[in-house]
Amino acid sequence: MNLTHIEHLGIAVKSLETAIPYYEKVLGLKCYNIEEVADQKVKTAFFKIGQTKIELLEPTCPESTIAGFIEKRGEGIHHIAFATDDVAACLAEAESKEIRTIDKAPRAGAEGLKIAFLHPKSTMGVLTELCMKGE
Ligand code: ZN
Repeated sequence: MNLTHIEHLGIAVKSLETAIPYYEKVLGLKCYNIEEVADQKVKTAFFKIGQTKIELLEPTCPESTIAGFIEKRGEGIHHIAFATDDVAACLAEAESKEIRTIDKAPRAGAEGLKIAFLHPKSTMGVLTELCMKGE
């Protein structure tokens, strides 16, 4: 796979209202975007450090996979996202190497990115996102 950098870290939080002040007032980062991703049932808040972002994920309903994650494992790091210029090619390569994928094709994510996930069962427990700028 041709991965260029860590695009973002996804962090599950119960409440953006509680989490954002920590990132802004303690870590000194600036929240530059808050966006609801309806089909993933999450509200996201973004911070930037270097070329990497922090993506806070707050569930918008109990059926959200983020709500399930927090219930099972508590708040914390949910996924790591790598940047590439070809998500479809990465998915094909993963499948050819018998890595389980969650998505069969790239789909729309927050910030206009095209994204796809690899299954944590195949990645030593780390939910792995591949993403690229959408056309
Ligand atoms: Zn993400």
